[in-house]
Amino acid sequence: MFSQRYFANYKTGGYKYMKTSRNQIKKTEACTFQAYREVYYIDIKEDYVYMLYPVRQNLSDKTSFSSAVDKHFLVGKILKNDENKVRDFLDLSRIKENLKDDNIIECKYQRLHKNGIGEWCLVSIIAQRRNEQEVESAIITIRSIDDVVRNEEKQNRKLEKVIEKSLKANQAKTVFLSSMSHDMRTPLNAIIGFSNMAQKNISDTAKVKMCLDKILQSGEHLLNLINDILDMSRIESGKNQINLRKCNIYERVYSVTEFIQAQTKAKNLNLSIQFENVINAMIYADDLKLNKVFINILSNAVKYTESGGTITYRIKERESDKKGYTIITFVIEDTGIGISEEFIEHIFEPFERERSSTQSGILGTGIGMTISKTLVDMMGGRIWAESQVGKGSKFYVEMEFKLFDIRETALDENIKTSVSNNLKGKKVLLVEDNELNMEIAEDMLKEAGIEVVCAKDGVEAVGIMERCNDYEYDGILMDVQMPVMNGYEATKRIRKLDRADLKVIPIIAMTANAFAEDRKIAKKNGMTDHISKPVDSVKLLKTLEKAFI
Ligand code: ADP
Repeated sequence: MFSQRYFANYKTGGYKYMKTSRNQIKKTEACTFQAYREVYYIDIKEDYVYMLYPVRQNLSDKTSFSSAVDKHFLVGKILKNDENKVRDFLDLSRIKENLKDDNIIECKYQRLHKNGIGEWCLVSIIAQRRNEQEVESAIITIRSIDDVVRNEEKQNRKLEKVIEKSLKANQAKTVFLSSMSHDMRTPLNAIIGFSNMAQKNISDTAKVKMCLDKILQSGEHLLNLINDILDMSRIESGKNQINLRKCNIYERVYSVTEFIQAQTKAKNLNLSIQFENVINAMIYADDLKLNKVFINILSNAVKYTESGGTITYRIKERESDKKGYTIITFVIEDTGIGISEEFIEHIFEPFERERSSTQSGILGTGIGMTISKTLVDMMGGRIWAESQVGKGSKFYVEMEFKLFDIRETALDENIKTSVSNNLKGKKVLLVEDNELNMEIAEDMLKEAGIEVVCAKDGVEAVGIMERCNDYEYDGILMDVQMPVMNGYEATKRIRKLDRADLKVIPIIAMTANAFAEDRKIAKKNGMTDHISKPVDSVKLLKTLEKAFI
């Protein structure tokens, strides 16, 4: 039956047929069979079968199909679960029935290997000869499709995970939206309620002040909420890019802790900052993104730690394998309420909160940690958390930073030296309520040879100016936000003192905001210039130099 075969001659266009030699047929068959494990010829009409590949049986060896099925296909060769399916598929009357309308019928099953592992195989029955009513003979092929199926399974599992994740995110978004509307309504209700109360008690100054404080508080919370949502959507839209700038790691840490100190003081929490083995202070980093991450983690530590607790912020440096780089680990530990084992796995997922605001009375959105993780990922770092319920939590952020090149530092040092030559011997009053900031600024000024006297609020500053000799001081560096008396008020009072030198003495404002509006307000209040915090030493000295000319 294999002697008369015709093959398409693809070289000549595929439409012309040629007679092939027996040798060519053999070669082609050999190639084709390689793809198959077994190939059988089955005579449906006469009910016999013989094997064509791998061993071609003699026609005299032909066996009845049903007994061959038991012997060759089924016994010990098929995974138990698939046995009935394959038996049904290979039932002769069914084959006849199924091949009535189709030329090929197929069944997928798992073949059993000695090691007990199943291999995915495909048995195909291809109609070969038909009479008018039915199929008379067919070819049965068995081939391994294990790679294909396993790949498919892998893809399916991946797909399932993606679907599950997106379903979860969707669900979380729904929960978020409903809790968000609650979280937004709460401060809004407070704003409206306290505005009404203030209106009704307009002549009771103390009550009006209390209402305004509450309105301010709720307004700030609402703003935080909206900022978080905006941050999140900015990150999701991929618009957020990394902006590396030269940073001093000490300044970064102190500027964030300064921001958080008002909250720790108000809640009577101890905040301890510990630098361990930090040798390389100057690095390249995206300072705004770093700030955002640590403000999020520290604010949570404040939020979820009860009054009297402790927050410890440790900064450790270790060597990197990469030349010119360093690894810094930031650890923020609190003695707060802690996080359960089940929840900690989801802490970085969007909109997840262990307790709602209603349950805990603690306001939040459940996206602060997601934003932090996304930002840390963007910067190529790692963030993780450890916690014990009732004992406290520990958040870790580890990141590799490029070190600031020493030659660039030399350039800075040159500017510093040239500026400090003009500043040596000058006397400056430094007004700053925050001890850490005071220390940093004092160091910078002293390094330039400036004599520094410190005051911790506006009242103290005005007092020093009242008592000092005429022209004793060359300038004043004035923080703006301070308890007791703020920087604007203190400046106004100093300018009003009955002394010619104090009408012209340079007073330089130091504020956290560098907006044009702040500069205007500073000028309006009698200040000479304005520098933004965290204070950069070169900028500070240059501003003073300009003011002293
Ligand atoms: P939230 O705005 O709710 O604070 P976050 O994304 O910042 O949102 O944090 C998610 C959740 O993780 C919080 O609701 C809280 O349950 C838990 N969490 C985060 N930080 C701490 C911490 N320091 N101590 C205890 N629980 C925390």
